[in-house]
Amino acid sequence: MYDTIIIGAGPAGMTAALYAARSNLKVATLEQGAPGGQMNNTSDIENYPGFELISGPELSMKMFEPLEKLGVENLYGIVTGIEDKGDYKIVKTDDEEYQTKTVIIATGAKHRHIGVPGEAEFNSRGVSYCAVCDGAFFRNQDLLVVGGGDSAVEEALFLTRFASSVTIVHRRDELRAQKVLQDRAFANEKISFIWDSIVKEIKGDAIKVRSVDIENVKTGEVTNHEFGGVFVYVGLDPVSDFVKELGITDENGWIPTDDHMKTSRKGIFAIGDVRQKDLRQITTAVGDGAMAGQQAYQYIVDND
Ligand code: FAD
Ligand code: NAP
Repeated sequence: MYDTIIIGAGPAGMTAALYAARSNLKVATLEQGAPGGQMNNTSDIENYPGFELISGPELSMKMFEPLEKLGVENLYGIVTGIEDKGDYKIVKTDDEEYQTKTVIIATGAKHRHIGVPGEAEFNSRGVSYCAVCDGAFFRNQDLLVVGGGDSAVEEALFLTRFASSVTIVHRRDELRAQKVLQDRAFANEKISFIWDSIVKEIKGDAIKVRSVDIENVKTGEVTNHEFGGVFVYVGLDPVSDFVKELGITDENGWIPTDDHMKTSRKGIFAIGDVRQKDLRQITTAVGDGAMAGQQAYQYIVDND
């Protein structure tokens, strides 16, 4: 029986593990990939206090290394469900079941798709959701980035390291991204914008993406533009399907909590991007993790 099992080892989960282990709890993280979560797909992090600039993978390792020394077990598995037995919980993967007094859900969020013809067909043949992973394959090409938030603008800036040009297509006439990112994009000679427009279809041949049909939502006019790659950054959906049966999510799948990261189920906490919140950042994820790690300890003290 674990004191707490943390599902997901991104910045939120790793911080929860740090705080729970320092309270002397028996702690495990259950992670389906490498520790670090979204940070592993982020090249430059410039807004994590204490570091003017640090790469995502490096920050991931800095968060992960102390956990082993503190005795946190790092279990591998894709969690498929949680059974709430009242004073204990069962966390299930395809081939294992773990018993634990508390659960901390830290599974983050995943990229949303635009759902247009050609998007699925050309996935990995010119359509990508990760500039850090795929950007270098698009040297000297003209690229399209879809979206107007922090991700779209930051990744467009990153892609200028490789591409001949980067065009951002956004459905409105102003960006949602932070001002500092907007200013950098507007000042970058390789970046241009198509405003008030959406992607209608991604076209290509047997090899890869060749062009994109773009519709101006104000005039209805559709025009075809040549691009060698399309990077989609239109927001995130929560990774919470596996807890649907517990009834702890809102209508869109985000998990509401109180200030102590408690969900509507006793002994089950939710932290980081999967939580219903206004600002999804590494800083807010680690803040949530600290609170949940400490609250898991408090829950066990109160219920033992
Ligand atoms: P995640 O980092 O998403 O980690 C969730 C973990 O859960 C993953 O490791 C995943 O494998 C695991 N998991 C999911 N489902 C399961 C399952 N069923 N079983 C087991 N494990 C599971 N924020 C900043 O502050 N600064 C930035 O510069 C910045 N840049 C960003 C760039 C991009 C392109 C993106 C997409 C986001 C960026 N963010 C940035 C946001 C930041 O990365 C997130 O807010 C943060 O990673 C959220 O942490 P998390 O631990 O909640 O979730
Ligand atoms: P986001 O902030 O939700 O922005 C999504 C963007 O895509 C919006 O501009 C939205 O348009 C547009 N969009 C949504 N659905 C669309 C559709 N179907 N077709 C076309 N456009 C669509 O998502 P994000 O940029 O991925 O950021 C997610 C979180 O990570 C945010 O909290 C962000 O702050 C954080 N993040 C932070 C950093 C950083 O701090 N440097 C970097 C990356 C991400 P509208 O504007 O019209 O809604």
